Amino acid sequence: MKNRVIIFDTTLRDGEQSPGASMNVAEKLRLANQLEKLRVDVIEAGFPAASPGDFEAVHAISKKIRGVQIAGLARTSVEDIKRAWEAVKEAAHPRLHTFIATSDIHMEHKLRMSRDDVLQEVVNAVRYSKSLTDDVEFSSEDGSRSDRDFLCRVFEAAIEAGATTINLPDTVGYALPEEFGELISYVMQHTPNIHKAVMSVHCHNDLGLATANTLAGLKAGARQAEVTINGIGERAGNTSLEEVVMSLHTRRSILNLSSGINTKEIYPTSRLVSMITGIVVQPNKAVIGANAFAHEAGIHQDGVLKNKMTYEIMEPETIGLASNRLVMGKHSGRHAFRERLSDMGYDLAQSEVDALFRKFKDLADKRKEILDEDIEALVAEELLRVPDVYKLEYLNVVSGTVAVPTATVKLFIEGHEAQGAGFGIGPIDATYNTIAKMTGTRSKLLRFSINAITDGTDAQGEVTVRLKENGLIALGKGTDPDIITASAKAYINGLNRLEYLKKNPSLTAEERRL
Ligand SMILES: [Zn+2]
Repeated sequence: MKNRVIIFDTTLRDGEQSPGASMNVAEKLRLANQLEKLRVDVIEAGFPAASPGDFEAVHAISKKIRGVQIAGLARTSVEDIKRAWEAVKEAAHPRLHTFIATSDIHMEHKLRMSRDDVLQEVVNAVRYSKSLTDDVEFSSEDGSRSDRDFLCRVFEAAIEAGATTINLPDTVGYALPEEFGELISYVMQHTPNIHKAVMSVHCHNDLGLATANTLAGLKAGARQAEVTINGIGERAGNTSLEEVVMSLHTRRSILNLSSGINTKEIYPTSRLVSMITGIVVQPNKAVIGANAFAHEAGIHQDGVLKNKMTYEIMEPETIGLASNRLVMGKHSGRHAFRERLSDMGYDLAQSEVDALFRKFKDLADKRKEILDEDIEALVAEELLRVPDVYKLEYLNVVSGTVAVPTATVKLFIEGHEAQGAGFGIGPIDATYNTIAKMTGTRSKLLRFSINAITDGTDAQGEVTVRLKENGLIALGKGTDPDIITASAKAYINGLNRLEYLKKNPSLTAEERRL
């Protein structure tokens, strides 16, 4: 048990800080469900005091997910802790996670508090949290840039007040592996009561060192790693779960550490996060990137064919990457479809399967072969949506070498039918102009990208847009064999996400940083 690393997943809290990655309650619940299957030890479900949407999501997850600890984040104020407790108290295993900055630069410029003030604040916050639950985690924000002896004093006081987990974050992604490992060793040696708590690390990837720093921390004695799926998070992101877990798994004989993660669920979880957030995984991303197991260079291919172990240090099956993709088509029945969904990691209600099956049949009429990626796109579109403010009902576009691009659009706006038409430089411009006019929205299109989900000219187009309005940023995604329709769907999805953000005013990034 001593060599067992607690995997604390903060995709739903810190990961959500990625620009544009905000998820709604239904999406968070679905992801929490998948994290339970992945067998993480702790799900940090959100920051309940940050916004009503955060609160609602943490509350819903606490009630539904029973097999995993659920943590809620709070600053040190009584109001924050109360709110976090309200959100997690119905969980089977609730945890309160409170934090305050401990570096001189943060204490002086952000908090405007002295060291003694901060120390007192920590004691009060942990004591109050402890009066509500046994499981209390304390984090020293900007820990890696804090005075190490002050850190030890803070940790000692926090443990004395009842903290059971002590987390040392590299909030700004500044540390180097050797230095960070040494800091963890120092803190563990110089905090007299550290044996009464679990030491935890939380790293950011600004220098691309998050995983290396996390492993250095674990080697030095930390036994909890705070991570996100795909390494999503603010700026360059957080430590990625899959990298840490597969490092422990692949180099077990050297590290002598293990986790309780069901590695076969890594790939499905990664895909789900990518689908929900619209943040595409880079092809060369360690462990889960599209090229991670593709040995394209001729010499490597030859080696892999002769014996996989020549160049492959992990087997794709270990992370749940099926080596033979099952192709489906219009003759595939409901039963086979359901089986495929379940193999891909989607456990769905009968009504959901029925709705998806209808869409699948529609798609199969247009395309000869349906691959896993197509099915995923269907799942994303059909299930990862809440009742939307805007819904596309009809789209007709005229374009070509002689026509002025024109779009005619029918939308449902909060349930009411509306129709409009407009022009543009091209068909997508015409469509977007018309939709913007009809919805009265003034978002700016920051990014537009289009991808073919599979190969072949009959492939579905997957469009991702990034929209900005009044300082809020949202991603939108849409798929369809017709790329203009996919573009319209992505735009409308982005607008719906902006509406969700407008209804859920939140703390600024500065206030929720850890
Ligand atoms: Zn963080």
